[in-house]
Amino acid sequence: MTVTEFLTSDHSTAFSFEILPPIRGKSIEGIYREVDRLMEFSPAYVNITTHRTEKSYHQVDSSTYRLSTTRRRPGTVAIAAMLRERYGVTPVPHIICGEYSRRDIEDQLIDLSYLGITDILVLRGDRERSENRFIAATDGHEHAVSLARQVVDFNNGIMADGEQTDPVFPPFSFGVAGYPEKHEEAMNLSTDIMHLKEKVDAGASYVVTQMFYDNKRYFEFVRLAREAGITVPIVPGLKPLTSLRQLSMLPRIFHIDFPDALSDELLRCKSDDDVKRVGVEWGVAQARGLKEAGVPSIHFYAMHSVGSVAEIARKVY
Ligand code: FAD
Repeated sequence: MTVTEFLTSDHSTAFSFEILPPIRGKSIEGIYREVDRLMEFSPAYVNITTHRTEKSYHQVDSSTYRLSTTRRRPGTVAIAAMLRERYGVTPVPHIICGEYSRRDIEDQLIDLSYLGITDILVLRGDRERSENRFIAATDGHEHAVSLARQVVDFNNGIMADGEQTDPVFPPFSFGVAGYPEKHEEAMNLSTDIMHLKEKVDAGASYVVTQMFYDNKRYFEFVRLAREAGITVPIVPGLKPLTSLRQLSMLPRIFHIDFPDALSDELLRCKSDDDVKRVGVEWGVAQARGLKEAGVPSIHFYAMHSVGSVAEIARKVY
């Protein structure tokens, strides 16, 4: 069953989560430990993020710096295959426009097809850290919608160079990202939802949202999306707060707000442990509210918060 078929089937609110591949040079043991802790909640699927190549300068001597380009977190496809083999869970690797040409992306799709992995999340990806806007690769994609179209073309046997072949690969089924508090570059929420609709019209069969801390923002987003004609499942994304550092970092990086009731609680926190306690309480309340509303699944961003995700899941599922 594909993720799309599952999300549209009759079921109670499911549990899913997202992990990041280890930092280059680290072992996979940390991933095993994270996944081991969350398997008891029978995840419907597990997402694996994809990270672009980043540029950095290294000092060689007092006057020379060397530019190097490195993917900090390689291994998405291998982890996807491992998740299915070791845990029998449906993996959902992320495919990003990043610095890839259409050919590079086609190669990734072929690798996934050969592994029998056909559920993916289609994204533009973050901009390169040293640049102030996203710059597409030569013959790459500027926006997720155009990557979505390439995936659909691939499903229909149309290759990156436009050649029509007989479709021989099992078709990919995919979701895309949505932003209840709007994407940072969007003029406003309406234009962002308009672009979200384009991604759905291009073939996406569900949406996973950016994290949010006020369920009202999610419900309003769903209402506006439905009004705009988006009918596919919209899976809410939650990230339990676990450290004082996140209180300024998450709003800065993800352009999200904490509602007053939460910030009042957080202002009283003196340590990471205090934040963790508030994060779990808040996450439980959010997840219960979403479950009561009958959302198809709750998607947990588990990075640095596996323990909190487990505590929340234990109380909610
Ligand atoms: P797009 O849909 O291309 O949208 C980006 C911006 O462009 C939006 O403001 C949108 O309104 C606008 N836009 C869209 N289409 C058009 C158009 N045709 N013309 C003009 N404007 C347009 N990043 C990673 O690098 N790796 C990951 O694994 C990853 N996983 C994620 C998972 C989830 C669930 C979410 C919510 C985000 C994830 N991200 C990841 C971050 C994401 O890549 C960034 O938020 C990125 O900046 C936007 O991606 P997108 O797919 O939403 O882009």
